[in-house]
Amino acid sequence: MSLKFSAGDLTIHRIVEEEGKFLPAHDMLPGLTPEVLAENRGWMKAAGALDDSDTLILAFQSYIVKTPHHTILIDSCIGNHKPRPGRPTWNMKTDDNYLRGLAAAGFSVGDIDYVMCTHLHVDHVGWNTRLENGRWVPTFPNARYVFDKSEFDYWTETNAKAEVPPFVDSVLPVVEARRAELVGNDFAIDDHMRILPTPGHTPGHIAFTFGRGKDDAVFAGDLMHSPIQTHYPELSPKFDVDPVQAAKTRRSFLERYCDTDTLCCTAHFPSPTVGKIRRKGNGFVCETVK
Ligand SMILES: [Zn+2]
Repeated sequence: MSLKFSAGDLTIHRIVEEEGKFLPAHDMLPGLTPEVLAENRGWMKAAGALDDSDTLILAFQSYIVKTPHHTILIDSCIGNHKPRPGRPTWNMKTDDNYLRGLAAAGFSVGDIDYVMCTHLHVDHVGWNTRLENGRWVPTFPNARYVFDKSEFDYWTETNAKAEVPPFVDSVLPVVEARRAELVGNDFAIDDHMRILPTPGHTPGHIAFTFGRGKDDAVFAGDLMHSPIQTHYPELSPKFDVDPVQAAKTRRSFLERYCDTDTLCCTAHFPSPTVGKIRRKGNGFVCETVK
């Protein structure tokens, strides 16, 4: 399993917390017809993206990007000790997969300069915090945490109506500890990292582009979840807050990077997860990079 990639002067590490069965394809992608699934079952299974019972296989992971100046963690995955009754394998989890993966890649929590979240869903914020003496504290003590301001505002509003546990235990404690930076789309880190607004999955969803003067790598977050969506960009998963906008964002993202050298680092595609976008018929394919 490839866990390390390079692009330009960047080194990119995957820190995999979990990879396996997620949801039945028809459940997760309500627009997926039995005919389209039948046509695509073969390559999806060969790619390790679908199992024998038509359940989608997803990876849950962070990326660490080393630029010449900074060490940046993108999306902080699921986390430990968090009450997640809706998903038993994530609920009050205590395994050491994540911190072991971090150490195996050669990093300690103190090495991370920035933590950046593509959006504030449960599986992208979990390791923002860890439990210490009964309190949630930032896991990465030296990091500044970058959240999109419009995304933060959306969850603040949603949380005011009915409590959103991942926001309460994995985002707000970072703000209270004064480690958070709420940014607009003009935020950049020197000349190496920029924001690409990619709304739809959530209203303030953003992708991160890295590379000096050109996009050597892009971190796509949840603008797509499964390789079948590169073939059919209109297929929006049931979690997309605005499925129509998400489909539009997905197609324009794929068009933007189609037939370029940019390494597309997805959040959830099964291993090796990372690839380059190429045209295929009316859609696209993410050609994996080993
Ligand atoms: Zn996700």
